[in-house]
Amino acid sequence: MSAVTEESVIAECSFCLRPDNEVGTLVAGPGVFICDECVGLCTFVIEGKPPEGGSRLAPWDQVTSPEEVLANLPRVAAAGAQVERNLAGWVLKARAMGVTWARIGETLGMSRQSAWERFSGEE
Ligand SMILES: [Zn+2]
Repeated sequence: MSAVTEESVIAECSFCLRPDNEVGTLVAGPGVFICDECVGLCTFVIEGKPPEGGSRLAPWDQVTSPEEVLANLPRVAAAGAQVERNLAGWVLKARAMGVTWARIGETLGMSRQSAWERFSGEE
């Protein structure tokens, strides 16, 4: 894993994967983001209207073939990677503020050593 810096944490929509400079407004959650267009799509779905376009992640219970499952894997993996990068950015921000690896580990329910190995970028 390459070292993560605070500068490398780029916000992108967790739903459509477009970066913040390609969307109008990006709303942040805990390690995830959603853009204004995806919020619009969510509103459509919540109101019971069929979503436009077929490039969205298929709902779990509507996926019935291995091909559909495989088609979803890269998008789910990308979202997971985004959350991991964001978490690493927050950890590095804590480190820059002088927080110890022991306290970061305790906060995340892991040992100091595990926190250091996962987030320090050092071997
Ligand atoms: Zn989006």
